[in-house]
Amino acid sequence: MLAYLCNLAETAKTSPEIAVSVVKELENQRTRVKLIASENYCSLPVQLAMGNLLTDKYAEGSPYHRFYAGNENVDAIEDLAAKEACSLFGAQYANVQPHCGADANILAFWAILDTKIEKPLLQKFGETNLYKVTDAQWNELRAALGNQRLLAQDYYSGGHLTHGYRYNMSGRMFDIHTYSVSKENGLLDYDQIEKQAMDVRPFILLAGYSAYPRKINFKRMREIADKVGAVFMVDMAHFAGLVAGKVFTGEYDPVPWAHVVTTTTHKTLRGPRAGLVLATSEFADALDRGCPMTMGGPLPHVIAAKAVAFREAASPEFRDYAKRVVENCQTLATSCSENGLEVLTGGTDNHLVLVNVNSAGLTGRQAESSLHECHITLNRNSLPFDPNGPWYTSGLRFGTAAPTSLGMGKDEMKELGSIMAKVVKGTSQAPAEKDPSKKSKAKHLIDPAVKAEATERVKKVLERFPVYPQLDLEFLKKAFLG
Ligand code: PLP
Repeated sequence: MLAYLCNLAETAKTSPEIAVSVVKELENQRTRVKLIASENYCSLPVQLAMGNLLTDKYAEGSPYHRFYAGNENVDAIEDLAAKEACSLFGAQYANVQPHCGADANILAFWAILDTKIEKPLLQKFGETNLYKVTDAQWNELRAALGNQRLLAQDYYSGGHLTHGYRYNMSGRMFDIHTYSVSKENGLLDYDQIEKQAMDVRPFILLAGYSAYPRKINFKRMREIADKVGAVFMVDMAHFAGLVAGKVFTGEYDPVPWAHVVTTTTHKTLRGPRAGLVLATSEFADALDRGCPMTMGGPLPHVIAAKAVAFREAASPEFRDYAKRVVENCQTLATSCSENGLEVLTGGTDNHLVLVNVNSAGLTGRQAESSLHECHITLNRNSLPFDPNGPWYTSGLRFGTAAPTSLGMGKDEMKELGSIMAKVVKGTSQAPAEKDPSKKSKAKHLIDPAVKAEATERVKKVLERFPVYPQLDLEFLKKAFLG
């Protein structure tokens, strides 16, 4: 509390508005249950490790190999963070510099291209210095790097924007091919993926998702990659905490099977907002050249916070947390379906649930807004083969990483599932503004009695599980909001 108070007091000396917003954010988070599947609450040690003078340092390059002087301490911090990451995940190599998950993916793509395409070509040219290759060789190199094939999970089946979506640069770097989940059961069909891989012959086979509620068999995916000679890359941004917490082991742990693994560090892993790349040693040299290849100066203060988070994630308490995240999620999914919501794939193996609200007569956008009014924060999501597109959507995606960090358990999950179902059933489509004889896809109407009851029930749940209980909200409000 004291550290927070000092931090806010110093900030308020220059910018009282920012201090006010931080206190208001705490108040907001205390009064809403956060079920956003990609968010969490990181510890105060993780938060405070970011708020210091390390942000002043330029540290371009890699540990002990910098383009700037005076990096003795940053070297030690980055070296420690990378070692902690390797030991946590059993990886041969870690690059802790990416600023976020999107950064980590771009770095991984380039490191794979560099290792598998550029290096052999330079060897063929008998040259190591890019400035010494001839114009013809440079053009040959650029042509070879462009338009390689990437086979990844389709965005509308739960894949991520950075896996080749047309509105993301990955969609322009590669010749994109995608695999979907099965129309019948919403699950990945490995035989089908194998067939597709045999046709496409991808340079990279990519597994990983933002919205898929089941485990992936990475051993099977690696077999497919090997069969077609592809590099196997996994983006475990969503479930890294379940890997670190040893819930996903054996064939469900991507690290032993993939050549390159990327992740965010702020979702189930509960660290600072940032990214990470793990790889076999084959890719270490290219990844070490991430700055200047794809990144500018690393963020030493965030790398310090990653080191703290990795140590936390190696603890027995974190393993227990990861186990409870999945148990809670399964209880929440069961409660939703017992209370009449349509849960995709019939449940979950991980930290997230997908619900179809189209079958309840709503778009995802309407259900999201209605639940938000009742103090439940989650997000709408496209469902596989969604007729409502990526803006309105037909689905909701929600998860248990954040409420489990607050200490919530099965009773709270049952209660939240029941409240959510009641709100969805108590919500209807408002008439369209332009033509009231039609229904709006955006605006909703909620039964006031349902809203009052749901808000009260959420409040009761939250009273027992305050967000950052170490922080005295009333005191901070008096100090900074006046
Ligand atoms: N990869 C996956 C699978 C994600 O779900 C996300 C974020 O939602 C990202 C990458 C990108 O992470 P960031 O927002 O930190 O760039």
